[in-house]
Amino acid sequence: MANVWIGLGSNLENPVKQVSDALIELANLPNTRLLKASNLWQSKPFGPQDQPDFINAVAEITTTLEPLALLTQLQTLEALHQRKRERHWGPRTLDLDILLYDTLVLTDEKLTLPHPGIAQRAFVLCPLAELNENLLIPSLGTVKQLIQQLGKEASSQVLPLEAKATTSF
Ligand code: AMP
Repeated sequence: MANVWIGLGSNLENPVKQVSDALIELANLPNTRLLKASNLWQSKPFGPQDQPDFINAVAEITTTLEPLALLTQLQTLEALHQRKRERHWGPRTLDLDILLYDTLVLTDEKLTLPHPGIAQRAFVLCPLAELNENLLIPSLGTVKQLIQQLGKEASSQVLPLEAKATTSF
């Protein structure tokens, strides 16, 4: 069993529903259990600004799926949400990233772990901190340290959509 953290994001076609549905779909993946889900957060788009704000969340799952098998499952879910890959960093109905797979460090053609964008992305770090701010990202530091390094301005671009307690499953 591996503990895995998944980043979810959407800014098209009812993003709150896209992300909420995706959390249920994660829970229903084979050989997988959803342990915790963060609140939904709203963030300014990374890259082109002429697109709607994003809704983001992070989920912690436990799974026996191997990393590449899990990536394939996530890409199937993205396809189910009819994700359109029109431009880099452009709008999307659903984006699912493997942020961290236990303490695995991997550079593969298809998969880099930990996810290479973690340290620069407040919309990943803020929901991740809700789940565990002391979580150690291999060779980078704890989530709390990474948020401090990113600075207040970056973190202020990301707001919790509603204040409710982190959900445990
Ligand atoms: P994106 O447009 O950000 O969803 O990137 C999708 C591509 O990133 C896919 O082709 C994946 O093979 C690759 N990728 C590399 N590392 C990861 C990761 N940790 N999680 C998800 N996708 C990844």
